[in-house]
Amino acid sequence: MTAYNSLARHILAPTLDVLRGTHVVSHFRELEASQWWSKEELQELQSTRLREIVQHSYEHVPYYRQIMDTRGLKPSDVRRATDLTNLPVLTKDLVRANLRRLVADNVPSRKLLLSRTGGSTGSPLAFYTTADDWFSHGRARGLIAMDWADIHMGDRTVSFPAGFGLPTRKERALRPLIQRLRRSREIDVKSISDDSLPDIIEAIRRIRPRALIAYPTVLALLAQYIKETDKAAPPVHAVLTGGEQMFPHQRSLVRDVFGHEPFSRYGSHENYLLGTECDQHQGFHMFVQDLVVEVVDDSGMPLPSGQEGHVLVTNLHARGMPFIRYDTGDIASWVAESCSCGRSMPLLNNLVGRSCDVIITPSGKRVAGTAIGLSRMALLGVWRLQIVQETLDSVHVRLVVRSDADDHEKEKVRAGVVSILERSLGADMSIEVAFVDHIEPTPAGKHVPVVSRLSGRLQQGHIA
Ligand SMILES: [Zn+2]
Repeated sequence: MTAYNSLARHILAPTLDVLRGTHVVSHFRELEASQWWSKEELQELQSTRLREIVQHSYEHVPYYRQIMDTRGLKPSDVRRATDLTNLPVLTKDLVRANLRRLVADNVPSRKLLLSRTGGSTGSPLAFYTTADDWFSHGRARGLIAMDWADIHMGDRTVSFPAGFGLPTRKERALRPLIQRLRRSREIDVKSISDDSLPDIIEAIRRIRPRALIAYPTVLALLAQYIKETDKAAPPVHAVLTGGEQMFPHQRSLVRDVFGHEPFSRYGSHENYLLGTECDQHQGFHMFVQDLVVEVVDDSGMPLPSGQEGHVLVTNLHARGMPFIRYDTGDIASWVAESCSCGRSMPLLNNLVGRSCDVIITPSGKRVAGTAIGLSRMALLGVWRLQIVQETLDSVHVRLVVRSDADDHEKEKVRAGVVSILERSLGADMSIEVAFVDHIEPTPAGKHVPVVSRLSGRLQQGHIA
């Protein structure tokens, strides 16, 4: 720990909490302690928080009140995680159909923020949150994940942002200050080309970060370039990744080039960080202090360790718009064995989740699917999408929208989608749009929103 680490932790971070009206530091301290608790102690904390969020949802959220009344359930019927099977799974379609009724009636509307997700799931979604729901616990989990990779508050980092808008004006105003205090630098990677890669590598070298943080696809593009050009990788202490599935070939490429086993993190925009790898890299330790995570079959019933199923998340802190048994769209299984690091937080493994290919444009730009800005399409009314690149100069876009949308509405959606894609891919790409009823996941249950059928060394992301 350097003096700057101490300053960041004890002075700067608490000051930021005051400026933002959040509680990141206190939650971080709590997680620092509870990561070493026994399984029973963790379950006790989880059950207490579950009872509170269910009580709140029953009293203040019309959607949940109706569901529980219809089923003859009282909040006291849900006392621990295993009782959640009494409640239905919350799908993205149900969120779309009940958006306003999912918002708590005791949260002032000035505190509600409309956010959106879908960059990597192919299923854009608008949802509501509050600054405290969004930041306090989620950011604290993010800091713990960094801590496990031996990266601490105040350490210099370089990250490649996903292009999500920040939810509040205050947060946008504070951004430059936050980045300076955190010594975090962001490099825009909306498009990576053979021309821009040397500059990106040089920028990393100049900044001398202790950690590099990026999507697996972006990390793999950087590593591949460094390897092929026989350059020395910029020295870093740790590499962190997340946002989409990391494939074994990407992991080994990053490990070979940067000399570190990458720390993969599992999260979603709706509920922030859900789990992270420790230095044993045996799976994602799930944050059961803040979440209930279930792995269930098609009928919503829990599966034993080793069996793959749908990952459902109940966020124990989201008061503005509670997510209870929310279907993440990911597939994974529980690890039966406990981790050799000594933590009892359960391990999730075999994550079959989101993945995106890279689109190559005629001018030679490489655009990671995660950098296209797909989440913006949620606000246009796109429910599901898939972009397929068949040839170098054309992409085919398939869209699912509300079933009763008329031609006029569809035309508005089409124009909006084309405009977003043109901004990312450039004017030299021909974009064809078709409206369809369904987009099926792959046989493995995976949603692949951006698919490239071009062959070649650039297609790092996708395994069919
Ligand atoms: Zn561990």
